[in-house]
Amino acid sequence: MTNSLYRGRFAPSPTGDPHLGTLIAAVASYLQARSKSGEWLLRIEDVDTTRRVTGSDSAIMSTLERLGFEWDQEVTWQSRRTEQYQQALEQLMAEERVFPCTCSRKLLAQTAGEISGVYPGTCRSNRLPLAHPHAIRLRVDDIMIHFDDAVSGEYRQSLVDECGDFVIKRRDGLFAYQLAVVVDDALQGITEVVRGADLLDSTPRQIFLQRCLGYSQPDYVHLPLILDPQGRKLSKSEGAAELNADKPAASLHKALAHLGQQPPLALMHAGVTDIWQWALENWEIGKIPTTHAAW
Ligand SMILES: [Zn+2]
Repeated sequence: MTNSLYRGRFAPSPTGDPHLGTLIAAVASYLQARSKSGEWLLRIEDVDTTRRVTGSDSAIMSTLERLGFEWDQEVTWQSRRTEQYQQALEQLMAEERVFPCTCSRKLLAQTAGEISGVYPGTCRSNRLPLAHPHAIRLRVDDIMIHFDDAVSGEYRQSLVDECGDFVIKRRDGLFAYQLAVVVDDALQGITEVVRGADLLDSTPRQIFLQRCLGYSQPDYVHLPLILDPQGRKLSKSEGAAELNADKPAASLHKALAHLGQQPPLALMHAGVTDIWQWALENWEIGKIPTTHAAW
């Protein structure tokens, strides 16, 4: 792999019907990759198998196909990559970066403060192995993490003050999303992550994990969330109603409009090929609005 290759990804969670938010992230990540003659990978983020909805992954894939998306390489499922996550965990264990946490939800709610949610470090002196049921947390350093987001601008977070030591393997034995996504992005050679702004405040944890594991840091683009006219985050069912795979051009048009690309009205009734051609020729990441938009 050469350094000049752009590789992006779209990584939906199969937790329900594909919705407008899914489509917006797919369109933006796809156009970023294709406009840079790069690759675009599809990864199903089902590491939390307890939230997986049967058939949701195939519904997402068939919707993408009907809307004219073409992904490179084989689709990956996080639920099949436990071995890779385990290797990363063992690396962190060998470097004594992690500790077992036996705190119950109830205890955490009492000690962490209901608003902040910052882990108070209760179990920091615990050592592995431990017989009691436990989660595994990564010990964070007292540093400010900051990065430049191509849409949201500079973002800063102190992990100690705003998050605390965080879970990378859950008490129920599942690997945490934060670990899985960092391992996947690194092993798949992702150079830029394009996704919804709901993950903006997870990014500093992911950057810290990348540093602990010796991975390189991808670039980041966080897309504004869609709000309903009352200013609330669009629910999944409302968003699902806005995505109609039977009307691919109209659905793509909506996504492009939300991304500030100002597609001509005539494209709402165009063929899929035509709308993609227009979108690729006119894609400008600088047009994406920086604030959350009402639909
Ligand atoms: Zn604990």
